Amino acid sequence: MKRVRIEASGSYDVLIGPGLLKQAGELSRQAVAPCKAAIITDDTVKSLYGDLVKESLEKAGFSVEMWAFPHGEQHKTLATLSTALEWLGEIRLSRSDLVVALGGGVPGDLAGFAAAVYCRGTRFIQIPTTLLAAVDSSVGGKTAVDLKAGKNMAGAFHQPELVICDTDVLKALPEERIWDGAGEMLKYGILQDPELFESMKNGTWQQAMEETVAKCVSIKRDYVMEDEKDTGVRQFLNLGHTFGHAVEKCSGFSISHGQGVGIGLLMAARAAGVAVSQVEEALKACGLPTQSPYPARQLSEAALSDKKRKGGKITLVLPEKIGKCCLKTIPVEELPFYFAHGTGETL
Ligand code: MG
Repeated sequence: MKRVRIEASGSYDVLIGPGLLKQAGELSRQAVAPCKAAIITDDTVKSLYGDLVKESLEKAGFSVEMWAFPHGEQHKTLATLSTALEWLGEIRLSRSDLVVALGGGVPGDLAGFAAAVYCRGTRFIQIPTTLLAAVDSSVGGKTAVDLKAGKNMAGAFHQPELVICDTDVLKALPEERIWDGAGEMLKYGILQDPELFESMKNGTWQQAMEETVAKCVSIKRDYVMEDEKDTGVRQFLNLGHTFGHAVEKCSGFSISHGQGVGIGLLMAARAAGVAVSQVEEALKACGLPTQSPYPARQLSEAALSDKKRKGGKITLVLPEKIGKCCLKTIPVEELPFYFAHGTGETL
């Protein structure tokens, strides 16, 4: 088992290894004394792992309740949050009790936000069950639901007490869910770690899941510890995201976040004129698309509709080489130019 220690406004461990779901109770007890524990998950994850986690927590002395909402990003709403909060009230959870966020990014973000606001802040534990959640959303304390105006537009910073990541669960994911996490993992490689990038490009990372996830979490940890509230260096974690979000948005979110980020990473490489063929090769090796189905003009309009209010400037993350990136703040009027370079079009 690997242990990555995170010291932010709260300090906690991210535990990564095989068979950890079964030990969830024992591991939780080392971070939080047994109390009432409210598991919040979605219907898919509940049917796969709900009972296993519940029994493990009960065996360790927690008194456990579980609630599931229908799976899918379309349920990451204020309405679901409201039902979750009322449920916590009904079961009389107190602020010294525990919320357990079990599942992928959607249950993690929603349950984390519920914990952030229930009784003005309740302790919580993250148990990510997708690769994307394991390497990204479960670490760093960002919690949220979506608004009609956009994704993650209502939320809070709330650090968990513990993150438990079972690599057996990650290995059992359907292939497309694995590739979905791979987009963010490639991002960490391009940001900081040529070795990680190489292992993604030659496919060896899947034999070393525990080490690879721990590496990604450590890289994210470094940015989060320096800039918990996302006003400075944490912006580097947006590599590929300005381009990628535009792709996701144009597709009406039928292109997944991981795929969008994958395309966005290649667009960033093209816009910078750096490591283009390497990134393209890595995306192919990870089963990710390499070309935006939408032209630059449509993409930049989608991006601008999000960014206009930001005082006329936008910060892009651009690679300098594999393992090193820079921040570049540009006037929004120049954004179409970068998108055109990103898709390889001429305006
Ligand atoms: Mg992301």
